[in-house]
Amino acid sequence: MEKKYVAEPYKIKVVEPIAVTTREQREAVIKKAGYNTFLIDSADVYIDLLTDSGTTAMSDHQWAGLMEGDEAYAGSKNFMHLQEAVKDVFGFKYTVPTHQGRGAENILSKITITEGDYIPGNMYFTTTRAHQEMNGGIFRDVIIDEAHDAMKDHPFKGNIDLDKFQALIDEVGADKIPYICVAVTVNLAGGQPVSMENLKTVSKLAHDHDIKVMFDATRCVENAYFIKEREAGYHDKTIAEILKEMMSYGDGCTMSGKKDCLVNIGGFLALNDEDLYQKATQLVVVYEGMPSYGGMAGRDMEAMARGIYESIDYHYIHHRISQCRYLGEKLSEAGIPIVKPIGGHAVFLDARAFYSHIPQEEFPAQTLAAQLYLQSGVRSMERGIVSAGRDKNGNQYYPKLELVRLTIPRRVYTYSHMDVVADSIIDLYENRGNVKGLKMIYEPPVLRFFTARFQPLSS
Ligand SMILES: *Cc1c(COP(=O)(O)O)cnc(C)c1O
Repeated sequence: MEKKYVAEPYKIKVVEPIAVTTREQREAVIKKAGYNTFLIDSADVYIDLLTDSGTTAMSDHQWAGLMEGDEAYAGSKNFMHLQEAVKDVFGFKYTVPTHQGRGAENILSKITITEGDYIPGNMYFTTTRAHQEMNGGIFRDVIIDEAHDAMKDHPFKGNIDLDKFQALIDEVGADKIPYICVAVTVNLAGGQPVSMENLKTVSKLAHDHDIKVMFDATRCVENAYFIKEREAGYHDKTIAEILKEMMSYGDGCTMSGKKDCLVNIGGFLALNDEDLYQKATQLVVVYEGMPSYGGMAGRDMEAMARGIYESIDYHYIHHRISQCRYLGEKLSEAGIPIVKPIGGHAVFLDARAFYSHIPQEEFPAQTLAAQLYLQSGVRSMERGIVSAGRDKNGNQYYPKLELVRLTIPRRVYTYSHMDVVADSIIDLYENRGNVKGLKMIYEPPVLRFFTARFQPLSS
């Protein structure tokens, strides 16, 4: 018998009712929200695929951990547990807890970057690059070219291009490069992984030049799963072994606990170097809190310590990646244009191909996200011309990729929910010809995608 899907390795103990609405109700909601899914109230959403950040369902063991919060101002036992978990699972000696990933990025940037330094990275992430730049750093993209082509199949599309990295060293000198930022997986490329072989080679090149390797470990467990699945020699290794080896090629990491650590809030900066750690503790007291809690409550550190162990369970990550793939494959089999290969945390719809009759100036991805909500109460996110915004001269960017992101929260939705999403998109695709684009009627000056408002173009 053919196996249709990898079933859930957990059962449901608490349920959270969600809004079942009529089309009339959704029409009123989307109109009020200016056809922008960011402006819809959560209470009006049936299936929320806006983001996988902080939307995780915690386990009973994690919830029990909250009751064991030690809220002492200094030396909380939960901090010890967190530090032990990071050392055990990631292999880094020192942990600085922060309120979320960007708190760690802020501290790392401040202790390592001097004005005019260059920070190479495998594509940028919004907050990571912002902190590097605010501290005088200049970001350089050194990801392989394949990553910029949505339809190009490559098993490790997040890999670093060694020639690009070497060229930067030759151009600016290694002493102008404090570290290379290696994201595992690469969010903005669609959750694409980096191979162990690549990590090993990048690490050698960097360390030969006294350049540190800092991971953005936000989705490192998903990356470890892809290595197990796709890279020769790793098939029989455990997720824990693979993750530990990955991290062994680095000098530290920043982590958004809201993703792979299976919690709703939190993060950390992990380091091996004692001097750097001392510098980090001096700054954490200014920006976050005492080094033994940083930006987190004791109970939240406990939930994160427990989440770290749960995240490396094979059955958990096997199910997560498979659920994401199930949705992507169902869409792909129906002829819906999606980004390939399907990444670790989301399925991306190619709105330009989906609504090929809607020009980019009429916001095909924004239109598709609004239509999907109207159709079934499913909330997704535009990642196209609206998100790209304008350059400093006020000219609109025209990004190559015009996408709608369907992000899967961890342990939250079932395969029936995925079926609802897929069926709804297939239906929209079959009736795509009648749909008109949108007109922007309110545009905020920065990060416009969050609050911009639209109106449907009349027929
Ligand atoms: C979410 C994210 C961050 C930032 O983390 P926050 O917890 O949202 O501050 C950094 N890098 C990547 C790849 C992310 O996905």
